[in-house]
Amino acid sequence: MSNKNFSDKRKLTYYLGIILVVIGAILFISTFLNQTISFGDELGDFDGFKEKLKNQMFRAGSAVILISIGTILLALGRRGIAGAGLILDTERERKDLEPINRMRGRQLNDALEEVDLKQHLAQNQIIKIKCQSCAHLNDEHDNFCSGCGKKI
Ligand SMILES: [Zn+2]
Repeated sequence: MSNKNFSDKRKLTYYLGIILVVIGAILFISTFLNQTISFGDELGDFDGFKEKLKNQMFRAGSAVILISIGTILLALGRRGIAGAGLILDTERERKDLEPINRMRGRQLNDALEEVDLKQHLAQNQIIKIKCQSCAHLNDEHDNFCSGCGKKI
């Protein structure tokens, strides 16, 4: 059995990965935007300062962990367990990567078809000769106009 498309489990893993990365990124950015530490104010309250610093470090750390897990889930969802290199199994890897390779194959095929079509059009270019007297369009090799009969 081959997987023609990504399984629901892999899709779910992938989207879960996206969600974790986004949450992680927001948390990470908010750690810096939400400047709770201002040295002047905190001079008199060193314990409070330490607490806020600890809190901020914790948030930044959590953000990094979320982004890391999210990135791993993204790779697992997209490439599968073997495809991502988590287990070494060439047959499994081939199957895991089948949806991606199929997609790439289709894209390559599309590109080749387009080139083929362009070449086809170039090879079958029809050249018409316009008659000087009646403006009728004649074939390239015609000697006499098929509209008015005059020599071209
Ligand atoms: Zn003519």
